[in-house]
This record gives sequence, C-alpha cells and structure tokens, in this order.
Amino acid sequence: MNNRYSRQELFTPIGKAGQENISRKHVLIIGAGALGSAGAEALVRAGIGQLTIVDRDYVEWSNLQRQQLYTEDDARNRLPKVIAAKNRLSAINSSVSIEAIIADASALELKEWTQNVDLIIDATDNFETRMMINDAAQMYGIPWIYGACVGSYGITYTIIPKKTPCLSCLLGTVPLGGLTCDTAGIIGPAVNMVVSYQISEALKILVGDSDSLRNKLISFDLWKNQYSAIKVEKLKKKDCPSCGKERTYPYLSFENQTKTAVLCGRDSVQIRPAHPVVRDLEALEKTLQKQGGTVQRNPYLLSFSTGSHRLVIFQDGRVIVHGTKNISEAKTLYHRYFG
Ligand SMILES: [Zn+2]
Repeated sequence: MNNRYSRQELFTPIGKAGQENISRKHVLIIGAGALGSAGAEALVRAGIGQLTIVDRDYVEWSNLQRQQLYTEDDARNRLPKVIAAKNRLSAINSSVSIEAIIADASALELKEWTQNVDLIIDATDNFETRMMINDAAQMYGIPWIYGACVGSYGITYTIIPKKTPCLSCLLGTVPLGGLTCDTAGIIGPAVNMVVSYQISEALKILVGDSDSLRNKLISFDLWKNQYSAIKVEKLKKKDCPSCGKERTYPYLSFENQTKTAVLCGRDSVQIRPAHPVVRDLEALEKTLQKQGGTVQRNPYLLSFSTGSHRLVIFQDGRVIVHGTKNISEAKTLYHRYFG
C-alpha cells in the first residue's frame, strides 16, 4: 500500500504535500451516469479522502456502453447506480470513505449535501439541477466544475465563487448546449474528454494550486475535430441573481423546482412526491401482485410492468414511468397504482 500514490507524488505540482491534501478532501459528485462514474473512479484512484455520490437512477443495459463502473449483473439486478458505484469504488480503493445517496437532487437536499464539502463535480444530465448546484455553490462558497456532453460534443468550465463568473452569469451570452442525448446519442470518448478536464481541474483545486486553474470555458466536438476555448472572465454580472451583490439564489427557491421531469434519452418520466415519504416496498409488492403484471423487487426499489409501461418506485417515493414521454399519461399511471 505504501507506494500506491508514488507516481502521482513524483508529479511535481502534486508532490507528497499535495497528496496529503488530496487525502483530506471531501468531494461531492452529483450524478452517477457516464460523467459521474468516470469522475468518481478517477478521484478514488487518486486517493481522495471522502466522496459523496448522488444519483436518482438505477443501472440499465443501455448504460453499459459508456458508464464504466457498471456490469451486466448490475443491469440484471437493477441496482441503483450509486450502490453499484460504491461496490466497485470500494473494491478499487478501500481507504476512501464513500457515501452513496439514492435521491433526486432537490434544493433542500442540495443545500444539506453541499455543506462540509471542498468541491462539487457536476455530472448531471439536466440544466435545472446544474443551476441549483450553481446557486448552492455560491451560497456556501464552494468551487464546482460544470461538465456536459452529448453526441461527440463536450463542454466544461470551472466556477470559483467570488472569482469567476458563475453559470448564471454566462446564460444568454455563451452557448451552453441545447441538445440532449434523447436526440443525439453519445459516444464514450466525449465523456472521457470532459472528465479529463474536470478531474485535472479538481486535482488543482484539491492540492491548492489555484494559479494553474483554467479560466476559459472549453468546448469540443471529437467527431467534427472542433475545439474552442472562450474567455469568460469579463462576463461576471454585477446584478447576477446567483453571485451578484443582491443575490436571491432563484434556482433554490421552491417555485422553480419541477416535480416531474422527462428523463434524458429514456422515453421515461420521473415523478417526485410533493412531500418526502418512505415507502414500504414489501407491502406494495403484495398489493401490486394482486393487480396482475410483473413485480420485481430489490432492497432499494420495486419494478412493476403492466402493458407497454414499466413503473419503478424507490423507497423515497419517487417513481420513474418507462414507456412514455407524456407527463400527464405518466401521472395517470402513477396515481392509478401508487395513490
Ligand atoms: Zn453569476
């Protein structure tokens, strides 16, 4: 175990002191899809002290093409991504303290998770959550690293509170990408490229080498051989609602949170109960078995197939309705089976 980090320590900008710093830091990763699994593995191998990883979803076959922590067994067992991730990450480096949270990032929870972390890595698949991360990071003064990819395109940017413009400052000025993997698919190399940028920046922050941080917004398309680095330092807005003088953190306010969401590339809708609940999945299994259809349960979730739809309910009451992108159809099914 003694020379585990020797190659990283030989790298002068990190050295023994930097490695010590890395081993004392706590990183929060929001999302355990393609970006989250690659980012988490890189940080755990690098010897991070503590990792919290949050995701709302479970492993499916279509994830295996690019989400590097997951196996066929995970897909077969429909394990929540963060549980499968924790299993694999603990096998890679048992000295890292890893907390796995199965949840959809809401404003209230984000505020709770964000305290006591040194850095947040964005690995979500939607803009709403990114804007919430942006507000929470500004509220608690925590650096975060934006990252997104679709098709062969990727984009990333490092946000340091009180120094750089925040994501909200860039809205409307800089193209932040509108495509989703619904329409464009995604290739693994685009994911790894974004993660390489994100984790390089993360290591600089964790060792305290802020002079080496990149202050440009990077975007690229690996298939079209395009690359751009946009200078954004002058885009910081004095009246920004997230990082300006009279900030209101609009994305953390209750009104801006949707309770339903069409999930990226999945022909599925997620419905979140208005108030937190704890579901008794075993009792629910018995009730649903009487309704016909196929019921499958593991300790974390229950899957119920009926006709062309499949409904997956988590312990926290969230439901993912597969087989539709229509929110009202999904809501009808939700109320029919789960009240
Ligand atoms: Zn701002």
